[in-house]
Amino acid sequence: MEGLLARASEIYAVDYFGAIILVALLEVIVPLRATGDSLKLRWTSNFSIAILGSVLMRIAFPAFGLLGAALNHQYGIGLLNYVTLPQWVGLALTVLTLDLAAYGQHYLLHRVDWLWRIHRTHHSDSDYDFTTGVRFHPFEAIITGAIGFAAVTVLGAPPAFVLISTLLETFNGFLEHSNIRMPRTLDRVLRLTLVTPAMHSIHHSKAGGDSQTNFGAIFPWWDRLFGTYRDQPSVGQDAMAFGVDGFEGRQHQKLHWMLVHPFLNEATDAERTAEPSVNG
Ligand SMILES: [Zn+2]
Ligand SMILES: [Zn+2]
Repeated sequence: MEGLLARASEIYAVDYFGAIILVALLEVIVPLRATGDSLKLRWTSNFSIAILGSVLMRIAFPAFGLLGAALNHQYGIGLLNYVTLPQWVGLALTVLTLDLAAYGQHYLLHRVDWLWRIHRTHHSDSDYDFTTGVRFHPFEAIITGAIGFAAVTVLGAPPAFVLISTLLETFNGFLEHSNIRMPRTLDRVLRLTLVTPAMHSIHHSKAGGDSQTNFGAIFPWWDRLFGTYRDQPSVGQDAMAFGVDGFEGRQHQKLHWMLVHPFLNEATDAERTAEPSVNG
């Protein structure tokens, strides 16, 4: 575990860029949907906002999470410091708790008006591929970092466990946003323990309150437990369209719009307040 921590930033970089390479290759070899005509614009904007937000904050904040974990370790704060558990139990508790915190955060991003405005940058992508997975407003990256820091501190998770949890979430963040054709049986099996592309893409669908379901990041269990799981898109796989109603223009795929739109009053917000029309 100590060796892991000494090379934390290299391991994180391999995980981050390794996932991009693997998923991008799979999207070329086994694509699910044909790429739309806004691909060049989307990729430019999505990567730019990733460089602004994700590279600055998402690389800074895992380190921040590790810093929080190092402080816990040094000063003995946080719940895990008050109990003696086998290492694997501590690791499982850390990964589960941080994933639950991510689920709770994601739910609130859809429920609180000003948070939704920030999170809408992620949902206003008119298409769906691994670059959607890095399309976050820099403010959302800050919120994610702060909530992760708080969760790590309360839990008292050791740095190595926080690193493993971050690696898993980063990798699946790319995988679940991928536009890949996965055999149905493989999706079924994976979906028992992992949020798959077929499951998370429903969360990006425009129709039928689909976006109010499938909030999970790594594990599908929280959605099942709290009744927000949806198995199939309300209009079916073939008719599913991505994005947010009222944000279908080409300008909504441009970087400057993505950055300023939380502060503009052009929203219909019908999608955010829509309740899921069909359960399950
Ligand atoms: Zn969302
Ligand atoms: Zn997403």
